[in-house]
Amino acid sequence: MNILLLGSGGREHALAWKLAQSRLLAGEDDTLYAAPGNPGIADHARCISLDASDHQAVIAFCADHNIGLVVVGPEAPLVDGLGDSLRAVGIPVFGPSKAAAQLEGSKGFTKDLCERANIPTAGYERTMSLGDATAALGKFEAPYVLKADGLAAGKGVVIAETRALATEALTDMFSGKFGDAGAEVVLEEFMQGEEASFFALTDGETIIPFGSAQDHKRVGEGDTGPNTGGMGAYSPAPVLTPELEEQVMERIIGPTVDTLRAEGTPYSGVLFAGLMLTDEGPKLIEYNCRFGDPECQVLMSRLQSDLGEIMLTCAMGTLEKQGPAEFDNATALTVVMAANGYPSTPEKGGAIDLGNAEAHGTKIFHAGTKVSNSGQLVANGGRVLNVTHSGPNVTAAQAGAYAAVDAISFPSGFCRRDIGWREVEREAN
Ligand code: ATP
Repeated sequence: MNILLLGSGGREHALAWKLAQSRLLAGEDDTLYAAPGNPGIADHARCISLDASDHQAVIAFCADHNIGLVVVGPEAPLVDGLGDSLRAVGIPVFGPSKAAAQLEGSKGFTKDLCERANIPTAGYERTMSLGDATAALGKFEAPYVLKADGLAAGKGVVIAETRALATEALTDMFSGKFGDAGAEVVLEEFMQGEEASFFALTDGETIIPFGSAQDHKRVGEGDTGPNTGGMGAYSPAPVLTPELEEQVMERIIGPTVDTLRAEGTPYSGVLFAGLMLTDEGPKLIEYNCRFGDPECQVLMSRLQSDLGEIMLTCAMGTLEKQGPAEFDNATALTVVMAANGYPSTPEKGGAIDLGNAEAHGTKIFHAGTKVSNSGQLVANGGRVLNVTHSGPNVTAAQAGAYAAVDAISFPSGFCRRDIGWREVEREAN
């Protein structure tokens, strides 16, 4: 079969690496295409130029190249309805419809769904104007959690310590800086606890758990400084015990999938639940309709099952035929190497030499890299490399990952030196 993978980040490199091992691509004529891909993905796929926002162009490519499965990496094409356009012409897609992708595309939509399905989450209020929002502040206590409703590249959430700061943030959010994404702001009750990510695959009916992870969003060590797309992650997340995972499946994931199906907008693809582990049990912070980046890199490092086959059964509505997904018991940990200046103004063009960093079982997933005209690998984005290593626990995986980081020459890049710190502390005690 031929498969088309859309995206160009570390997440898609990990997906390409795993898809390339699938039985679906075992035949001599089977080809994995990636659009646009990156230099790391090019080791596993034929990289092509194709604009995912041009649905007709994607459909034409699929028809010309006999594509049997499209895997959509990032959220934007899903929220934009690419899945619907492809399904309408009979092309199997891994990823939800536009209606179901609202789980990520609209925070208000998700909160209303949680209310209808009695899913544990923070209390909330949807507001459509600055006046409504400032009045609604009176129903909450500090710290105030304020969220632009739509996709805002991780920048649409403000946690304000005082009412004055909340009012200031709301004024800013309703000023139009997020465009349509900020036309509505959701106010939420503040939840206390440790955060973890949980993944499940579904075809709309059958659901299989697909692992857990914890990431590090802040740019600086000790979880300080501005938010980023993610500076590192590890999987599994030991805080999410098997008992808690069962609760998440029963109280959060199951009711979400069942409610969406019952309401005529079945969800298919990966459900990525951002959770707060509170004293009252796990509560939903948010849903994403795609794999996390860099969580995907650590999940794929542990996955033993055939990713292509699982994704195809999700796309075809036959997931019940799959057994549970098999994962290696080892811990995988990834350290993101970013270009100096990230997240605000990453420096482009810095030379990278990977040396023998992959010599001891480390896998390096590329994100923002390119090969210059002179054949040199250079930085071409904010997050550049994902240095991923597996070990019997977080401490061992961390040591292996940083040994590989130290074997890489990337003078204009940096990384956090404490990825996995919480778990390393717990393992020491
Ligand atoms: P992401 O970049 O993770 O997709 P996002 O912009 O979609 O983020 P959320 O995940 O909803 O937004 O929130 C971002 C972060 O804000 C969370 O990871 C969490 O740390 C914090 N947060 C969000 N909601 C709450 C809440 N109700 N109580 C406490 N903290 C919260």
